[in-house]
Amino acid sequence: MLSDKDRIFTNLYGLHSPGLEAAKKRGAWDGTKFLLQQGRDWIIEEMKKSGLRGRGGAGFPTGLKWSFMPKQSDGRPHYLVVNADESEPGTCKDREIMRHDPHLLIEGCLIASFAMGAHAAYIYIRGEYIAEREALQRAVDEAYEARLIGKNNIHDYPFDLYVHHGAGAYICGEETALLESLEGKKGMPRLKPPFPANMGLYGCPTTVNNVESIAVAGTILRRGASWFASLGRPNNAGTKLFCISGHVNKPCNVEEEMGITFRELIDRHCGGIRGGWDNLLAVIPGGSSVPCVPAEQIIDCPMDFDSLRNLKSGLGTAAVIVMDKSTDIVRAIARLSYFYKHESCGQCTPCREGTGWMWRVLSRMAEGRAHKREIDMLLDVTHQVEGHTICALGDAAAWPVQGLIRHFRHEIEKRIDEYAANPHSDAVLQAAE
Ligand code: SF4
Repeated sequence: MLSDKDRIFTNLYGLHSPGLEAAKKRGAWDGTKFLLQQGRDWIIEEMKKSGLRGRGGAGFPTGLKWSFMPKQSDGRPHYLVVNADESEPGTCKDREIMRHDPHLLIEGCLIASFAMGAHAAYIYIRGEYIAEREALQRAVDEAYEARLIGKNNIHDYPFDLYVHHGAGAYICGEETALLESLEGKKGMPRLKPPFPANMGLYGCPTTVNNVESIAVAGTILRRGASWFASLGRPNNAGTKLFCISGHVNKPCNVEEEMGITFRELIDRHCGGIRGGWDNLLAVIPGGSSVPCVPAEQIIDCPMDFDSLRNLKSGLGTAAVIVMDKSTDIVRAIARLSYFYKHESCGQCTPCREGTGWMWRVLSRMAEGRAHKREIDMLLDVTHQVEGHTICALGDAAAWPVQGLIRHFRHEIEKRIDEYAANPHSDAVLQAAE
């Protein structure tokens, strides 16, 4: 279990002021100049040694990502872009950082930008996050006023930070769609390559990082890479913000050590499963786009990237959605399919047509109005969508359906049998509601 002295986000719940003075007392902006004086290479090496993997879902090593930026500028400016779009259903961690601990993020922006030779950074914040944008802007203004950032700041590294408010499209959380949107165009993903590190914002070298990945950088460098690496498990180091929602007694956001077991996470922080552990049906462990895992497989599983991948799911954003036995799992996944259909940008055919097709078939299956042979047909379509699209939204739409069929095929079949036996029964009509 993570001890209080190892917490990075010590104002996660907003019990103290998010302002500059209070943030400094909690450790933000402490020795930042000294850290920058160690040089770009030192910062990137430390980040690599810390083992930090990106906290936005993909889990790509952060230090390695920073090292992809060109060492020398070819005349084009470099940019850091922070992805604060946070639209993955179940995920609500970055908003707490921006509301309650924004100076950790701003300090992280300066450090990361310095490490990548960027003199400007943009924080792209989700359209629905109005109060968060205001809180973040207040903190940025404070940092400018205290000359912590700006053209002529006390760190001797000219650096401007802009907060950009999105318009609420899920797809703008995809890094290249985000860049398009930031440039004032429609938020539609770009084909890769070229990758942003070569040709990102305005055609210039750019790194896009998640809010949490950037906000932890200052503390990692201050306390040392070995401290961060000593937490968690090999290849899954450090602390992580978990967002736990659904059928637990006390849903919450909490910072915990990577690799904590699901059981411990829920018992320690959420007061257990609603109705007791025997009442657990399944868990979506990493935000709506990862496959669900049935109760018996997840209970003692360490919550980290590799362990959840071994269960054919993923840690994603660590948005843990808990479902007890009162859940109609087929309807729940059908509802997620509707979300992906709604949020598809429509650029590529498998995603544009496939997401709607999957949603319509699943909706019928939730009522039992389907043939059993359609289950394999649906599975086949998910494979035709997965890996055949410009961006990962296609995969994100396919995986929950694959998880459902892998673990709960019997539920779909039962529903179909019930409907066939009595198309007007109460159970069938309830499912159709
Ligand atoms: Fe757009 Fe979907 Fe293609 Fe992504 S996969 S580019 S969201 S159509």
